[in-house]
Amino acid sequence: MPARTKSQKQATATKKVSQNALVVGGGVAGMQAALDIANQGFKVYLVEKSPSIGGRMAMLDKTFPTLDCSACILTPRLSEVARHPGIKLLTYSDLESVSGKAGSFRVRVIKRARYVKEELCAGCGECSKECPVEVPNEFDWGLGFRKAIYVGFPQSTPSTYTIDMESCIKCKRCERACERKAIDLEMEDERLEFDVGAIIIATGYRLFDVARYYRLGYGRIPDVIHAMEYERLINAAGPTHGHLVRLSDGRIPQSIGFVQCVGARDVTKDVPYCSRVCCMYGIKNAVMAKEHNPDADATIYYADIRAFGKGFEEFYEMARSRFGVKFFRGRAAEVRRDSRTGKLVVRVEDTEKAQPQDVEHDMIVICPGIQPPEDLAKIVEKMGISVTTDGYVDVANRYFGPVDTKVPGIFVCGCADGPKDIPDSVTEGSAAAMKATIILSGGGAA
Ligand SMILES: Cc1cc2nc3c(=O)[nH]c(=O)nc-3n(C[C@H](O)[C@H](O)[C@H](O)COP(=O)(O)OP(=O)(O)OC[C@H]3O[C@@H](n4cnc5c(N)ncnc54)[C@H](O)[C@@H]3O)c2cc1C
Repeated sequence: MPARTKSQKQATATKKVSQNALVVGGGVAGMQAALDIANQGFKVYLVEKSPSIGGRMAMLDKTFPTLDCSACILTPRLSEVARHPGIKLLTYSDLESVSGKAGSFRVRVIKRARYVKEELCAGCGECSKECPVEVPNEFDWGLGFRKAIYVGFPQSTPSTYTIDMESCIKCKRCERACERKAIDLEMEDERLEFDVGAIIIATGYRLFDVARYYRLGYGRIPDVIHAMEYERLINAAGPTHGHLVRLSDGRIPQSIGFVQCVGARDVTKDVPYCSRVCCMYGIKNAVMAKEHNPDADATIYYADIRAFGKGFEEFYEMARSRFGVKFFRGRAAEVRRDSRTGKLVVRVEDTEKAQPQDVEHDMIVICPGIQPPEDLAKIVEKMGISVTTDGYVDVANRYFGPVDTKVPGIFVCGCADGPKDIPDSVTEGSAAAMKATIILSGGGAA
């Protein structure tokens, strides 16, 4: 960790600027911001609401456009954050309030009770083996199961187990199984209060609720799934150990349709904007279908392909020419199940020929657009920040202040201010960190 110069320290001391930063959200954007700030010698509180950092990237199987294994790239970064002496990880925690101004914010955080002592738990999992309760695992979008005492995924960071008290039957078998005496069923929420000079919002996104498109069959037809469920299904650590099978009968699908722009570019559903990542992750997932079963048919139903990033056009071309992914220009209107054949039938208008068509598949993967987290407006309101009409954090200036909010000293990065892919989220994480450290160094409002 590079030492800060004497003059920098004097400048901040004179102005009474706190040397600490707060990052809210531990996805790729927030982790990048935290590391960049901490590597400059400042202290960072990283507040994450779920039991582990990692965000949505931890759920992905491969990443476009290189098809790198997502966990393989992410895991070293998770450990780097956890081991960094300048980063205080506050997982399973919520931001309660923020007051003050740039250079000296007062922050209150509630650290929810895990009922397992972080300093004692070694993450061995003996407790979980003994737990008799099984509930759907949120990390696998409910397709797999976890125990009432659990970690969501193998690389969970921290590796501390958490007891889900709503499901726990208080049999105390976990307590008896834990040699290190880490279980504390009487644990209470903790209230923390500290000062920070700058704040970064990195709260990411949620998926559009695809059940709102009733006619596409999600929630009614078992073999209509959404793209995140698909990511878990094809993942070796997922509920089917990476076997791409139909949920209805466990059979290997020979034909899969990927439906694009569901909850994106649709004014009737109040999501007029493009989600920027769906074309590419749709293509990635179609390529993965071919990797799993080269004889399978993979067809993408699209409005138009937006392959704008570095290496994206080439990836799109490769999907078509090397993997034989089919591209069908047309918006899917309906999916129904033919009760005679058991096949799923997509009703789609071929917009190149202006003709409606019915196409049969064994499985349909809906590619949902991205939306801001439900509680985002409430959280940023505590800081005096507004959201745009789409619900994302409003930035000060799209051109010259893309990571500045309208409140000095508070910055935003990743999908919290709009949909973006991993490289762009990480770039913004670094940009927001840079802006924050200007404040922490006594440089005034950035
Ligand atoms: C199906 C699908 C596949 C994708 N595949 C790819 C791909 O192959 N390549 C690629 O580049 N991109 C891909 N993406 C996009 C990628 O997921 C995002 O670019 C990336 O996850 C954005 O990172 P983030 O840190 O901004 O947000 P997130 O990953 O959403 O992380 C945000 C974090 O903030 C936490 N949080 C939220 N609210 C609060 C709060 N109030 N307090 C504390 N913590 C909070 C969340 O729990 C989460 O940990 C895909 C997206 C989807 C939907």
